[in-house]
Amino acid sequence: MDSKAGVLRLEADRLSDLFGALQEAGFEIVGPTVRDGAILYDRIEKVSELPRGWTDEQQPGHYRLKRRNDDALFGFVVGPFSAKRFLHPPHERLFSATKTPDGGVQFEATDSETPRFAFLGLRACELSAVAIQDQVFLHQDYVDPIYAARRNEALFVAVECTVSGAACFCTSMNTGPEVTDGFDIALTEVVSDEEHYFLVRTGSDRGRTIVDTLQLNAAEDSETKAGQKRVAAARESIGRRLETDGIKELFYRNQEHSIWQDVARRCLACGNCTMVCPTCFCTTVEDVTDLGGAFAARDRRWDSCFSLDFTYANGGQARSSGASRYRQWITHKLASWHDQFDRSGCVGCGRCITWCPVGIDITEESAKLRAGEAPGVTRNEQ
Ligand code: SF4
Ligand code: SF4
Repeated sequence: MDSKAGVLRLEADRLSDLFGALQEAGFEIVGPTVRDGAILYDRIEKVSELPRGWTDEQQPGHYRLKRRNDDALFGFVVGPFSAKRFLHPPHERLFSATKTPDGGVQFEATDSETPRFAFLGLRACELSAVAIQDQVFLHQDYVDPIYAARRNEALFVAVECTVSGAACFCTSMNTGPEVTDGFDIALTEVVSDEEHYFLVRTGSDRGRTIVDTLQLNAAEDSETKAGQKRVAAARESIGRRLETDGIKELFYRNQEHSIWQDVARRCLACGNCTMVCPTCFCTTVEDVTDLGGAFAARDRRWDSCFSLDFTYANGGQARSSGASRYRQWITHKLASWHDQFDRSGCVGCGRCITWCPVGIDITEESAKLRAGEAPGVTRNEQ
């Protein structure tokens, strides 16, 4: 946090004023809330829906909610949902066709109203993931109209991490925990026995307009430092690492390594890792009809490189083994993404580690591959 950048102070019991200002400006708030035993992003209307006093415990293949010993509203890291679920929804109807009484067919493009989301609580790594999806959906030859419409309306109220999770490795990917760009408003929560407040910064004119309505006072230097200290402590506490030096070449050199067979013995090819990943973007289209033959529609839904049908073409699958599917996923994330988009496809959020039912860990598999290149380690052909 840059203490010279006009940091303001918002009392925690006035967070409802920020909710009001966002709603007054026509935004639907999407923020963290406790649902189904996890902290998920969902549409929320009141501060009371935030996970006050909750934190998350994460390990490979493990997620549990736990009580904190304070009233922190953002004292956890990231859950299974990300902004992707709202900007690039899991299921969208593209168009439909209905038989008319005179035997013709009427086509209808889906023209639903574009929601105006204010994302509350996105972390630094999640803002990086949005920037990656922007690159995929907005800055290539083809602009995705569904994503573009939602993204253009979206406002981001980010929150800096003051705790880290055991699956986090944003520091290896240079994506966090400090919120430095891609935000309209950034909050840092300071909670102690004596006080509970937020440090507030703005990163865009839209964010400034909202914050101006709150008429906040400037934060004291000591208050700003208290926030910085908490974010620095979160940075220090991140124990997981991904060595990124020469990582593209590492994966390209090892397409036939025995590690892929080893992962395939554990991997269920369930695709969870791709569903929870905030940067994975693949979709498929499917046509649906009613039984009477009077209605048909084309839908788009998220797909996964772990599904057998994903590479089906001309009567066969290009990647029929589990080994080749896992290799494809991790190689795309950490290596070929660099060729395609000039950066890594991973922001170090750790979701694929936590939500893999068998605890397969992208950092560990990558480290094993690196170690496997050491003299004396054998390689197999697949
Ligand atoms: S690959 Fe895993 S750690 Fe990296 S961005 Fe995707 S879910 Fe997060
Ligand atoms: S790595 Fe884990 S989450 Fe991904 S497909 Fe395999 S079992 Fe499922």
